[in-house]
Amino acid sequence: MSEQNFDVVVLGGGSGGYAAALRASLLGLSVGLIEKDKLGGTCLHRGCIPTKALLHSAEVADVSRESSKYGVTTSFHGIDMNAVNAYRDGIVTSKFKGLEGLVKARGITVIRGEGRLVTPTSVAVGDDVIVGKNVILATGSYSRSLPGLEISGRVITSEQALTLDYVPNRVAILGGGVIGVEFASVWKSFGTDVTIIEALPHLVPNEEESISKQFERAFRKRGINFSLGVRFAGVTQDDNGVVVTLEDGKTIEADLLLVAVGRGPATAGLGFEEVGVTIDRGFVITNERLETNIPGLYAVGDIVPGLQLAHRGFQHGIFVAEEIAGLAPMVVSDINIPKVTYSDPEVASVGLTEAKAIEKYGADKVSSYDYNLAGNGKSHIIGTAGSVKVVRVADGPVVGLHMIGARVGELIGEAQLIVNWEAYPEDVAGLVHAHPTQDEALGEAMMALAGKPLHAM
Ligand SMILES: Cc1cc2nc3c(=O)[nH]c(=O)nc-3n(C[C@H](O)[C@H](O)[C@H](O)COP(=O)(O)OP(=O)(O)OC[C@H]3O[C@@H](n4cnc5c(N)ncnc54)[C@H](O)[C@@H]3O)c2cc1C
Repeated sequence: MSEQNFDVVVLGGGSGGYAAALRASLLGLSVGLIEKDKLGGTCLHRGCIPTKALLHSAEVADVSRESSKYGVTTSFHGIDMNAVNAYRDGIVTSKFKGLEGLVKARGITVIRGEGRLVTPTSVAVGDDVIVGKNVILATGSYSRSLPGLEISGRVITSEQALTLDYVPNRVAILGGGVIGVEFASVWKSFGTDVTIIEALPHLVPNEEESISKQFERAFRKRGINFSLGVRFAGVTQDDNGVVVTLEDGKTIEADLLLVAVGRGPATAGLGFEEVGVTIDRGFVITNERLETNIPGLYAVGDIVPGLQLAHRGFQHGIFVAEEIAGLAPMVVSDINIPKVTYSDPEVASVGLTEAKAIEKYGADKVSSYDYNLAGNGKSHIIGTAGSVKVVRVADGPVVGLHMIGARVGELIGEAQLIVNWEAYPEDVAGLVHAHPTQDEALGEAMMALAGKPLHAM
C-alpha cells in the first residue's frame, strides 16, 4: 500500500473533472486525477463528440440526396456504417490524444483505476491511497432506464447505439429529449423509419413551447413519427425485433428500442454516503459554490443536480479549482447556460422561456419578438425554416433567446453573451451584424424589440 499526496485530488476525468485538474494545475496546485476508463469521459467517448460526428455524416447524406435542388448533380448510394464509424472514431481518438498530451504537459498525475472515497480527504484506488487537501467528486452519469425496463439485446441506450455497425430499418425511441431527437435525426437521414415516444405533450419539452411546436412540424415534414403525451407500457423482443406497447394500447414494431429517458448520477457504491456526503436520489448536494456538506469536498458536473451538459461541467471544474485557489470566482448559475440540440433542425436557447419570464416578472413586464427566418437571406440560401424568439423585460434586458433552424447552434455564442451580459435590445440594435449571415436574424429581432425594425414589421 502506498500513499500519494496532492493539493487537489479529482475523482473522475470527464468534462468536469479534467477541467478542474487543468485549471488547478495552471494555478500552481499539485493535482492527482483518478480515472477508471479514459480521460475525456462521456462527452468525448460516448456523448457530445461521437454523436455530433454522426450528425455531420447525416447532414452530408441529406445534402447529397437534395443536391439537385442547388443545381449539383450527385447520386446517393447509401450509408457505409463502417466508414461512418471510422470517421467518428478518428475524431474521438485525435481529441483523446490531444487531451492526454495536455494533461501530461500540465504536470497532472493521472492515477488509473477505480477510486472510492474513504475519508473527506482521501480516495482509495486498489491498494493505494490518494490524499488531497481538497477532493473534487466528478464521477459523471449513466443512461437511465425505466423501472422494469431492462437494457439488453434489442433494447439499447445511447452507448450501444453508438456501436452499431449497420443502419437499422426501423427504430423506436423512448424519450423526445435531446438525446432521443438527435439519434432520431441521424437515423432518419441514414434511411431508418423512426418513431419517438414521449410522455410529455411535446418533443424537446424543456424548450420554449413555440419552438417545440415548430420542431414537431419540421420532424413531421421529415417523416419522423412520434407519439406525444402517451406513456410507454412495455416491450417484448425476439430474434426479429421488438414490439413496444403504449398505455393507449398502440403498438410499434421495430428492430431496436433506444431508451433515452435521461441520465442518472454515477455515485452508487463509491463511498460518498459512508463518508457522510449528503446525497439526494443519487445526486450530490452542494451549495452554490459547489461545496458539499463536508468542507473542502466539492462536486462538479452531472452528479450535481441541474443541466447535464459538458460545458456546465467545464465551468464547474474551472470554478472549483479557482475557489480552492482562493480566487472567489463568479457562481455558475444554471439558468443562463446555453443549450443546443444538434438535430436537423437545430434548437438553441439560453435564459428564460416567455412563460418563466412572466412567472418571474409579471405579464405586464415582459415582451417578446419572434423573428421568422423566412426573412433572413442566409437561411433562405441554405434552405432552412425557423425562427429567433427574444424575451425581454420591459425597459430592461433580454432574459431569454430561443432559436430553431439549421445551424442556429452557431448563433448561441452571441445569444448567451446578450443574456449573460444583461444587454438591452436597444444596446444590441446599434451593433452591426454582417450580411448575409443567420446572425442578422438576432440583430433584426433586437431592432424590432427596440422599436426600429428594418426588414420586419
Ligand atoms: C449521447 C450523449 C450526447 C451528449 N451530447 C452532448 C452535447 O452535445 N453537448 C453537451 O454539452 N453535453 C452532451 N452530453 C452530456 C455530456 O456528455 C455530459 O454532461 C458530460 O460528459 C458530464 O461530464 P462529467 O465530468 O460530469 O461526467 P463524465 O463525462 O461522465 O465523466 C465522469 C468520468 O468519471 C470516471 N469515473 C466514474 N467513477 C469513477 C471512479 N469510481 N473512479 C475513477 N473514475 C471514475 C468515468 O470513467 C468518466 O470518465 C451528451 C451525453 C450523451 C450521453
